[in-house]
Amino acid sequence: MVALGLQKLKRLIAANRFVEPLMVFGAAILVWMIAAGFDVFEFVHSLTHDFEVYELDELVLLIFLIGNAGYYYAYRSEAKKNREILLRASAEDELDWLSKHDSLTGLPNRRFLQELLNEKAESDPSSIGTGLGVLSIDLDGFKKANDLLGHSGGDAVLMEVSERLKSYDGIDVAVRQGGDEFLALVDRAKGRDPMDVAEEVRAILCEPVTCDGVTHIIGASIGISYYPEDNSDLAKVVQYADLAMYEIKRLKDQSVVRFEPYMDEASHERAKMETDLLTAMNAGEIRPHYQPLVNLETNAIYGFEALARWTRPGYGPVSPEAFVRVAEDMGVITKLSDDLLRMACLDAKAWPDELILSFNLSPVQLTDPLLGLRITKILDSVDFPPRRLEVEITESALVQDFDRAADILAQLRSIGVKLSLDDFGTGYSNLSQLSKLDFDRLKVDQSFIRNFQSEPKQMAIVKTVLSLGNSLGLYTTAEGIENQEQLKVLQELGCGCGQGYLLGRPVDAAATLEMISGMGHGDLVSVQKLAG
Ligand code: C2E
Ligand code: CA
Ligand code: CA
Repeated sequence: MVALGLQKLKRLIAANRFVEPLMVFGAAILVWMIAAGFDVFEFVHSLTHDFEVYELDELVLLIFLIGNAGYYYAYRSEAKKNREILLRASAEDELDWLSKHDSLTGLPNRRFLQELLNEKAESDPSSIGTGLGVLSIDLDGFKKANDLLGHSGGDAVLMEVSERLKSYDGIDVAVRQGGDEFLALVDRAKGRDPMDVAEEVRAILCEPVTCDGVTHIIGASIGISYYPEDNSDLAKVVQYADLAMYEIKRLKDQSVVRFEPYMDEASHERAKMETDLLTAMNAGEIRPHYQPLVNLETNAIYGFEALARWTRPGYGPVSPEAFVRVAEDMGVITKLSDDLLRMACLDAKAWPDELILSFNLSPVQLTDPLLGLRITKILDSVDFPPRRLEVEITESALVQDFDRAADILAQLRSIGVKLSLDDFGTGYSNLSQLSKLDFDRLKVDQSFIRNFQSEPKQMAIVKTVLSLGNSLGLYTTAEGIENQEQLKVLQELGCGCGQGYLLGRPVDAAATLEMISGMGHGDLVSVQKLAG
């Protein structure tokens, strides 16, 4: 406490360079007054007069001058030291500010928020008054604008959004959490309802943003939580606002959602799932099964699609769509996919050489410029010929960043891997773009095959896709064939290949080998035999 007080006094003195000299002069005048009171000057005068022979007056003058010079020197060096202290203090202040603010938008950052949370955690909860509303704000459509405008354009959008948040007075503190995520604190003691504030913030952020003459509409999803109602720990309440915001992303039908306890339970469940998934990956418990792909003209199996399988202890089988999504979110999809591909290639090496291995890639992988290199390395390491590998890519993988995905696909083609467009008809890719990519195969999504005989619209789509495939010189595979009726109609329509429970369900590596050896040596198997 005393040290702190001294430090403050020192800073005050350093800040005002006249204080110290004034103090010294004050002391000098005090000494002079005491000396005058005791007639010291007369005493010195008579002393120097009495000892004139020793030149005592010159000595006194010398002492006086040396004293003054010493004082002047001390004053200069002290002033210099003070200037340095001041400079250092202002540099420290500046560094401190920078470390707690986002350099692009000037808004407080995560670190600032953390310190604020620590401070609040130490303070008495009642000092926060009626409480706070926490808004977790995520911009919708920012990524698209960023891709379109480039990084500087994306930065301009973020700066505009920050300005709007700063100038809106319903918010007490706005923080940039990172990327396109922001956080806002609303002081309810000022009579504001966080729900209303969230609606207003959304309306403000939805106003068009014009950048380089192009107008963009940026939306916002806002999760809200209340302090202290939702939790007496403000850090938890901030986390809850994020959970509510993620819920909006999941539900996709609302823009402002208030936190509810089930979201926290779901997040714990999710964290447990993540741990189990990592454990299973490390133990090699996620393995591919194989579903036959059949040539509908010759009734022969031309290959197998690898489909990942995981039986989660205590829960049973988990859908690959679910755990692949978790792996994507956790950033471990590359490892999972690499491991699965290695296992699948090793399994497929035991099949007849003409059978292909069809392997699903996640959309996230098509943003990885090293994908081609990685796949080449795996194929080399297990000595599996690239011509036997076909990779399945969904349209959604192309919608995100077409040019980058096209580059990666071109790399894969150049090493001899075949390309198949999966779930065709469910995405939003445009045909002129698709025709630029050298696909070998279109897979008609199973949703069109389900009822296509009885639904004229679905029938029209299936026919269009088959003729599109024909005109582009691509193979077409119909997915999800479950009954003889569907198979017959597809054959009549000239669909080249098929896949579905009727032709064979996905089975493990050993059963796949049995299926292949049941076909007799050689390459062919009759569909009837499989279906039977
Ligand atoms: P997909 O690539 O469209 O795979 C076909 C899905 O349809 C598989 O579901 C398969 O079991 C199922 N299926 C096949 N025939 C029929 C049928 O006649 N009727 C019905 N109702 N379904 C049929 P599964 O194995 O649950 O896989 C779901 C999705 O998970 C896959 O859809 C694929 O997108 C993804 N996936 C599976 N394995 C992997 C993988 O190793 N990596 C990646 N990235 N994704 C995978
Ligand atoms: Ca597939
Ligand atoms: Ca599919």
